[in-house]
Amino acid sequence: MSYVHGLPCEASFPLIDAHIHLDLYDEVTRERLLQELPNLGVEAVIAVSMHLASSQVNHALAERHPGLVFPAFGFHPEQPIPADEEINRLLDWIRGHVGNMIAVGEIGLPYYARKEAEEQGAPFELEPYLTLLDKLLALARELDKPVALHAVYEDADLVCDLLEQHCISRAHFHWFKGSSSTVQRMAERGYYVSFTPDLLYESEIQDLARRYPPDRVMTETDGPWPFEGPFMGQITHPAMTAEVATAWARIQGLPPEEAAAALCRNARSFYGL
Ligand SMILES: [Zn+2]
Repeated sequence: MSYVHGLPCEASFPLIDAHIHLDLYDEVTRERLLQELPNLGVEAVIAVSMHLASSQVNHALAERHPGLVFPAFGFHPEQPIPADEEINRLLDWIRGHVGNMIAVGEIGLPYYARKEAEEQGAPFELEPYLTLLDKLLALARELDKPVALHAVYEDADLVCDLLEQHCISRAHFHWFKGSSSTVQRMAERGYYVSFTPDLLYESEIQDLARRYPPDRVMTETDGPWPFEGPFMGQITHPAMTAEVATAWARIQGLPPEEAAAALCRNARSFYGL
């Protein structure tokens, strides 16, 4: 029997990677990963985008791997704000590809860029990011699509306000970290969160996994982002969600098969897969 990430391949769980940047892998690695997925029990990946060119790559990947790669189109907030012209080009392109997309994402607010600027004593204007996010949320509402969000700590409260203003209830806060009052607000609104492989070694994330409603959680990798602990030095692979599911099972006191099935069901129900 062969093993991948400590699990026997033949007994692999049904898995969904609810947040991955497929376009950021080099082509050879990406094709190898995609070929391996069905044998490792990975039934679907949600391929989120950074900007227009990235959306176009993910769109092409979804065409080549139907039923496996489901693309989300958007603009990642941890980068400089583009010119209005470029934003309008992205919004128009998304409107023209609504039939090919599963969600609007990755969108949100630039928590880490802002913190870095603050640490260096550099000025940072949040307002243009709020304006852009407002436009992207209006687009999600217009197209009736869920949103894949990058919004952590105090930024998540700002995003919750905006979601409420836009009457958006289908919101997925990927790799969420934040205060217990924010967590409570998100859970009450029925928003989803997802756990990355750092669930195996980050106590802050383990606490969240203990508290967040079990029918509102999913697994993800945010690949190719690299992980530490038992994943140190490994290329981030959607099959690592098997270990995330196993860690969540332990926290919840569930058999791993049951936990994996629940996580998969949640992702299918959120994204309408
Ligand atoms: Zn991401």
